[in-house]
Parts: sequence; C-alpha cells; structure tokens
Amino acid sequence: MQPPLPITRELLLIGGGHTHALVLRMWGMKPLPGVRVTVVNPEPTAPYSGMLPGFIAGHYNREDLDIDLVRLARFAGARFIRGRAEKIDPINRTVTLEDGRELTYHIGALDIGVTSEMKTPDGFSKHVTPAKPLSGFANNWQIFLRRCSNNATPAGAVVIGGGVAGIELALAMAHALRTQSGQTPQITLIERNQILPGMKQSRQQFFRERLLQNGVSVLENSRITRIEQDRLILADAHDIGAGFIAGAAGAQAQVWLQNSPLTLENGYVTVDETLRAIDHPTLFAVGDCAHLSHAPRPKAGVFAVRQAPVLFSNLRASLSGGSLKSYNPQSDYMKLISLGKKSALADKWGVMFRGPRVWQLKDRIDRKFMDQFNDLSPMSKPDLPRVVADGVKELMQATPLCGGCGAKIGGLTLTKILANITPNPRTDILTGTGDDAAVLKGPNGGFQVISTDHLRSFTHDPAILARIAAIHALGDIWAMGATPQSALANIVLPPLSNDLQHSWLAEIMEAAQGIFSRQGATIIGGHSSTGAELNIGFTVTGLRRTKPIGKNGARPGDALLLTKPIGTGVILAGEMAMKARGSWVMAAIDSMARCQGETANLLGNAHAMTDVTGFGLAGHLGEIARASDVGYILNLNNVPFLEGALELAEKGVRSSLFEANRAYAKNLIVSPDTKADLLFDPQTAGGLLAAVDPATAEKLVSKIISIGYSAQVIGQITEKSAGQIVH
Ligand SMILES: Cc1cc2nc3c(=O)[nH]c(=O)nc-3n(C[C@H](O)[C@H](O)[C@H](O)COP(=O)(O)OP(=O)(O)OC[C@H]3O[C@@H](n4cnc5c(N)ncnc54)[C@H](O)[C@@H]3O)c2cc1C
Repeated sequence: MQPPLPITRELLLIGGGHTHALVLRMWGMKPLPGVRVTVVNPEPTAPYSGMLPGFIAGHYNREDLDIDLVRLARFAGARFIRGRAEKIDPINRTVTLEDGRELTYHIGALDIGVTSEMKTPDGFSKHVTPAKPLSGFANNWQIFLRRCSNNATPAGAVVIGGGVAGIELALAMAHALRTQSGQTPQITLIERNQILPGMKQSRQQFFRERLLQNGVSVLENSRITRIEQDRLILADAHDIGAGFIAGAAGAQAQVWLQNSPLTLENGYVTVDETLRAIDHPTLFAVGDCAHLSHAPRPKAGVFAVRQAPVLFSNLRASLSGGSLKSYNPQSDYMKLISLGKKSALADKWGVMFRGPRVWQLKDRIDRKFMDQFNDLSPMSKPDLPRVVADGVKELMQATPLCGGCGAKIGGLTLTKILANITPNPRTDILTGTGDDAAVLKGPNGGFQVISTDHLRSFTHDPAILARIAAIHALGDIWAMGATPQSALANIVLPPLSNDLQHSWLAEIMEAAQGIFSRQGATIIGGHSSTGAELNIGFTVTGLRRTKPIGKNGARPGDALLLTKPIGTGVILAGEMAMKARGSWVMAAIDSMARCQGETANLLGNAHAMTDVTGFGLAGHLGEIARASDVGYILNLNNVPFLEGALELAEKGVRSSLFEANRAYAKNLIVSPDTKADLLFDPQTAGGLLAAVDPATAEKLVSKIISIGYSAQVIGQITEKSAGQIVH
C-alpha cells in the first residue's frame, strides 16, 4: 500500500472571494500532493455579487446567493478558518487574524475584495449599511424588509451612490418593497455628481426615467453633510427620512493593507502580469483588491472570475517549481444590469438590449456559475486491488468511517472485552474496571479523578481539533463534579516536513493550553508520534474534596437535564458526504468547542451525571439507568438539536457508529422516527447529562442560561423499567 505523502508546503488563501472560490474548486479536482491549503474568510459563506440585486428584489433566496466556503474547502481537502486578516508580513510570510492567531505560509494569495465603508459624511459608519461586504448588506436588508412587512418601520430607504451597483440596488429595493411588504416604495438615490459617470448620456437618461417609473427619486449633484438615525441631512439643509440607508458610493481598498510593506496603488495591491505582488514573489493578489499594473481595469467580478485559472496554475507552479503564466484581461465585457422586476439590460461595445429575455440570460449565467459550487461530490474511495481478503469489500462499501466520536468502537464490543479484565484489587482505586474514567484516593482525604480520550481528526484545522479534544477529555472530569488538575497530551501527526511538524505541534499545544489553563489545569507532558492521520488525545486528572458524582445516584422523580444540543455525529457525517451546509458545520464546531466548567460548577449537587459522547444520548442515559437501577422517560420534543441535524437525518445521513449505538441502547423502546434516531448519534465533546432534584431543575436551567450556556430539562428518572420516549 502507498504510504501517505508528507505535507511540505503551506498555501494560504486570504479571503474567499470569487477567484479563490474557483481556485478551491479546481484544487479539489486536481490537488497538488504535499500541500496543505488554508482558506481564511470572516464567514462560512461568501455571497455572489451577480445575484445580490436579484436577492434584494426577492427573486432568489439567501442560499441561492451564498458560495459555501466550508463545503468547498472540504471538497478541496483544505482547512477553513473563520477569521479576518488584519496584518500581513510578506517578508516573514505571516498573516495575523483579528483574534491574534498568526498563520504562516510558503505561498499566499489575497482575494479580500473591497469595502463600501466611507469615513465621511459624519454618521456613515453608524447608520449606513455598506453594499460591501455583501453578506452584512443582505442580512440587514432582510431585517429591514421584515420590519416593513410588520409595519414596524417606515418603508423609506436611501441609496448613496449612483453607479451601476447603486442603481441596481435601488431598483431591486423598490421592487421588493412593492411586492413583498405591500408598501409603496419611497426610495431616494443620492449621487454627488451625475448618475452612471462615464456612460453615454442616453444611458444615463434611460436609467433616470427607469428609476422614476419605479418610485425612486434621484437627487444628482447633491452632497450629504450628516447622517443620523433614520435621516440624512443634505448640504442644502434639506433632510430625508429613511429606515434603511445603503452605501454604494464607490469601492475602496481595505485600510489594513496600507500598514503593510506591500506596493499599493490607491490602497490596492499592485501585481504584475502573473498576479504576483510587486517585490513579493511568494504573495499573489486577485479580484477587486488587486491593481493590475500591466493592464489596469475597473473593479468587476468578471475579472475576478477570469483570473481563477491563471492563479490556480501559478500557485501550483510556485509550489512545485514550474513556470508562471500571464493574465491578459479582456478590454471590455458585457454588463448585465438587473432592472428590479425580472428584467435586465445588457450593454457591450455601446450596444444595448433589455427586457425579460435579458434577465433570463443573466439568470442562466448566474445559476450556472453557482452550480459549480453546489454540485460537489465527496472524494471517491480508492480503487481496491483486484484480489483482497474476504470481508474487505463489504467494509469498504459501508458508511465511511467518521471522525471525532463517530470513529469509536461500539459499546457492545467494548462491554464484552472489558468483562474479561481482572477486577480491580487495589484499595486506593475506588471505582471498578470498565469505564473511561476512574476515581482514586486523593490528597488530604479528598478524591482524584482520572480520564482519557482521543479524537480522530474530523477537521483540517489542528488547532480546532486540539481545542475540542481537550474539552472532550475534560468532559468526564466535569461530569464527576471535579476541578481539572493536569493533562498529558497524546498526539499523532500526519507525515510532515520538519518545519511543518514544528509549527503544527506548536499550534496544537497553544490551542490546548488555552483550554486547560482557563480551567485551572496544566499540561505536564505527553507523547507525540507520526502516523497515517492526525489524532489528538489527552489523559486528564481532576480533584474533588467530596465523593465525585457518579452515574449511579439517579433517583426516581429526578429531572434529566442536558447542557448541549445533540447532532454532532450526523453533522460531521453530513459534512464528509458534502451534504451539510457550512453554517451548520461551523455551529456544530462552536458547540463542541464550548467549555463546560462553569456549567459543571452549577451542577455540583447533581445526583448522577455523565458527559454525552460516543454512545449517544440514549447510550449514556442507559448507562445512568443501569448504574442507578432506575428507568427513565425522555421527552423527545424537549431534546435540543443542532441546526441542520434533523434535516440531514431526514435525508438518511447517519454516523458510522449509529448502528452500533442503537444496538448498545437496546433497553430503550423506540418507534422508528428520525428525531428518535438522533438519540443514537455519537457526540463529540457533547453536553453534560445530569439527574437533578426536580425542585431545583428549572432554577438550574435559568442559572446556566444566564451565564451564557444552554440547558434544558429533557425527561425524568422513573422506577426501574425499560427507557421510554414520549413525544
Ligand atoms: C450590488 C453589486 C452588484 C454587483 N454586480 C456585479 C455584476 O453583475 N457583475 C460583475 O462583474 N461585478 C459586479 N459587482 C462587483 C463585484 O461584486 C466584485 O467585482 C466582485 O465581487 C469581486 O470579487 P472578489 O473576488 O474581488 O471579492 P469579493 O467577492 O468581494 O469577496 C471578498 C471576500 O473576502 C472576504 N474578506 C474581506 N476582508 C477580509 C479579510 N480581512 N480577511 C479575510 N477575508 C476577508 C469577504 O468576506 C469576501 O468573502 C457588483 C457589486 C455590487 C456591490
């Protein structure tokens, strides 16, 4: 068998703009072995500008508009980091994100677009929604439209800027207000000079008339002096009320680039014909944030799109010693401008067409562009040799092995094996054999608890995996009501070059240290080695003065309280199958990466407690029931689910551990139901499941929620019986 190839080079894509999105797609189809790709973007999705006016008008929904960068990164085998770059050092090849995280690269590329933020007039930053970034604009517009529909705000809106973007937005907004909120649009477009500067007078006149016909008043040669909440004051002292103010007055380069040693033109990164930053051959810049020194062009998505194949080829060449290609932009391009309702105008070489057919053409082009990012299939399984041992084919055809807790061994197998272990004869070990955690006699008559856990990688980001693995390992310590004390790390790195081994390990330890030190624990050592894939685990200890909380103290009548939504297994399986939305994956990661120390402190008087992990909610609840010799009723409608978990389960997505978990929780009476199936979903760094005095349950839930965490009563403990589900 071919051993996995080592990773020797880091490619960092800063910004998920149109060029980088296309490059990721190309990379997924033709990866360069030995390279780890990272893409950094403030959000899991990047909206496609061509469809923004159609979305504002109500012709598209939000999903139509969004390029899902998390899915795309998964397709490309790339690491996605949610973050915003705010510093670049092209000499030492580092990028610093706004949360202080520093990323290094061998080859980097910038595709961060522009901003429509303006320093003047006064009040702009507080009261105006800039068209760029597009996602913020799309969100704020939806909020405004909802408020208009409920008559909670006047329907008046202002668009600042009479360029193509401002006009498209004004016409789209007028259409939406008329059709979706049922209100007569009162929209004003304010332009400092004349609308559509640089276009023929006949075009300008056409758009003036079109705007007026659609209820948009046009104020040309007007200067805004101040912007306040819901109104703008003009230089002639006349003021205009507006519930929504859109800023589309010209693109500007991002300010943070000015503090870098890069050569800039008006704030844009100057690049040569190969798209490399002048003087910095290891950094490329593309799309709106770049200035093409050899062939300057206006800022337009069409150039960003056409740069993708050249950037892809040049990145590969720079990482593998090939020669670079030149990018020669076209001199003109067809401008397709939407006119509010499903009608558009096409303009090229001075010739103009308009009407519903042009809109249909634009719609076809835009949807085809977006289809490239939606029709992604998971990587195919490697071809098997012609002759293999019996059973290999069947296993290879089964659900692909999940990462995180989905990769664990099933509960029934473990129970059988552990039954053969010699019972613990020592008096300083207070628990029996067979659990993943134990209670030992501690110092000064107290107790020490010990546990261990590790996770097979489910993310390409070692720092995230380290954080989640630390929280996952601490779950048992928290569940026993103990205070974290120490940790030993067990790290398996994939094959890496020496410098990458150093940087990956440093990143992992820093991320883990961040978690343990915040919980008052110290990493005192550990072991590392190289293996086929990334794997991170910790052995942890904790201290408690009084007897640790076990699984065996639940009493009939106790309320069952759960502190995190379930569904991480199905979301991670859905991500592998390219069926999960990026926003669901990020929300699941956020949930897994939430510490539970403060919640555990509030649950210090629980009668029984466990952390919900590999065996799923049903499996771990069954363990409490067996250890406490009780039964339980689960109220399925109260069980919280992660966003997207039900949707994926309904599509038939299941974790690879699902069947084993269902078999393990055989004492639970379940009717076939998608929601009930999620009770067998393995959880990574899942919530705490506590049996508490019913008189205190609601108070505990409120307290936990008041400190910013989640908690819900999901059922109750009964006299001994089979577990039951009620809806
Ligand atoms: C209303 C409107 C309509 C338009 N319609 C068209 C059209 O029909 N045709 C056309 O050709 N052009 C159109 N444009 C112009 C088009 O939007 C841009 O030219 C195009 O989006 C540029 O793509 P890009 O790759 O440079 O970056 P963008 O698409 O702007 O993407 C930049 C990405 O980088 C991310 N980012 C920003 N800052 C950072 C940071 N510091 N760190 C990390 N990531 C960061 C952003 O979140 C975003 O995801 C329109 C513009 C607007 C405002």
